[in-house]
Amino acid sequence: MSVARRAAALALGAVLAVWLCGCALRSHVAAAPAPKGRQGFGARPAAPRTEPLLPRTLVPYTGTVYAIFFHPLIVYPRIAFSSNEALGLQKWMVTVSEFDRILPQLDANGFILISPYDLFSLTNEDGRQVVVRKTLLLPPGKKPLLLSIDDLNYYTYMRQDGLCQKLVIDASGNIAALCPTPSGVPVISEGDTIIGIVHRFVEAHPGFSFDGAEGMINETGYEGVLGYRTEAGSPDRMAQIAAARPVIARLKEEGWIFASHSFGHYNDARITLQQFAYDTTEWMQQVEPLIGPTPFYVYPFGATVPPFGPKMALLVRDGFVMMFGVGPDPAWQWHPTFVTLDRVHVDGLSLLTEGPMLAPYFDAATVIDRQERGLSPTATSFPNP
Ligand SMILES: [Zn+2]
Repeated sequence: MSVARRAAALALGAVLAVWLCGCALRSHVAAAPAPKGRQGFGARPAAPRTEPLLPRTLVPYTGTVYAIFFHPLIVYPRIAFSSNEALGLQKWMVTVSEFDRILPQLDANGFILISPYDLFSLTNEDGRQVVVRKTLLLPPGKKPLLLSIDDLNYYTYMRQDGLCQKLVIDASGNIAALCPTPSGVPVISEGDTIIGIVHRFVEAHPGFSFDGAEGMINETGYEGVLGYRTEAGSPDRMAQIAAARPVIARLKEEGWIFASHSFGHYNDARITLQQFAYDTTEWMQQVEPLIGPTPFYVYPFGATVPPFGPKMALLVRDGFVMMFGVGPDPAWQWHPTFVTLDRVHVDGLSLLTEGPMLAPYFDAATVIDRQERGLSPTATSFPNP
C-alpha cells in the first residue's frame, strides 16, 4: 500500500477509534503476569461439509487472496438512522437488505469463501516457530475470499440503536439472532445476522464455500462475547458463560472460526507497550477460554503495530500468527514468524463513496439502500443529524 493510502487507512482507524469503542483509554494499567506460550494452531478445525463428496478437480491458485470485513448488521434502519449514533451507523454498518444483495454478486463474480487456516502451516526451525506459506488448491476459476465480522459482540449501544441483542440457537438448531421488534416482541431470525445469511447461502450454493469455510468472527471482551455479558464483573457472569458456550460450539460446527479483536478495543498504535500487554492478557484470560485459542489477531480500528517492534514480538510470543489490518486492497506481507494483511472495509461509507474500491467484489451502487438510509438518489454524503 502506498504511504498516502496507508495514511488514509490510519485516519479511518482514528475516526473508528472514537466511535466504535466509546470507552476512554484506561489511564491506570495494572501489571499483568506474562501469559504462557500457546501451541498447536497449525491445523484447521474440521467444519461439516455441506456439499456431497463428489470427485472434484483442484488447481494451484497463485493470484490475489481477497479479504473483506463487516460489522454486525443494522436490522431496524429507521431506529438506527434516527438515533444519536446515526452518523456512525451510516458510515460503519450495512443493513440486512444491503448484505442480502452482496452474497449473490460475490458468487457470480467467482469468489469462494476460504479459511485463513488454508493459507499457512507452522513448523519448528531451531526452536523457533516458523510460518510456511501453503499452496492454495481451489476449484478452477475461483477467487479465494476471507470474510470476517468485527465487533460481533452486540455492545450496549448496538442493542439500543436498531441492531440485535445476541446470537442464539434457533428451533432448527441453526445460529440466529435475537432481535426484539421496536415494540419489544422477541424475534429470532437467521436472516438478521451475517452468520445466518452466509450459512443459508452456502447451503443453497455449495460452490461458494471451500470445504465448508464460512468466515471469521473477531471478538473483543470488554462487553462479553456474541451478546453474552461474560466479562469479569458482569452480574450473572457464570450464567452468561454457560449460555454462550453452546452458541460458540454451534458456530464452529457451521464453519466459523474466531479471532482476537483485542479485549478493550484500544488503538494499538497509540497505547503503551504495557497497556498493550495488559489488554492482550485480558483477552487471553477472559475470551480465549470461551472461544478457544486462535492464531488470528484483528487490529481495532485497523491501527497496525510496526512489524519489527516490541508489540509485534509480544503478539508472536502469545501465539498469534496472522495479523489483520484495514486497507483499500488485500496487501499481504509474509515474514518468517508472522503474516500481515489488510482487509477491505464494507460499510455505508465505502458503499456510498468508494465504489471503485469495492468493484472487484460487487457493484456498490446496486447494493446501497438509499431509501432506508434517507439518502437522495444523488447524495454523496450522509446527513449529520
Ligand atoms: Zn472493531
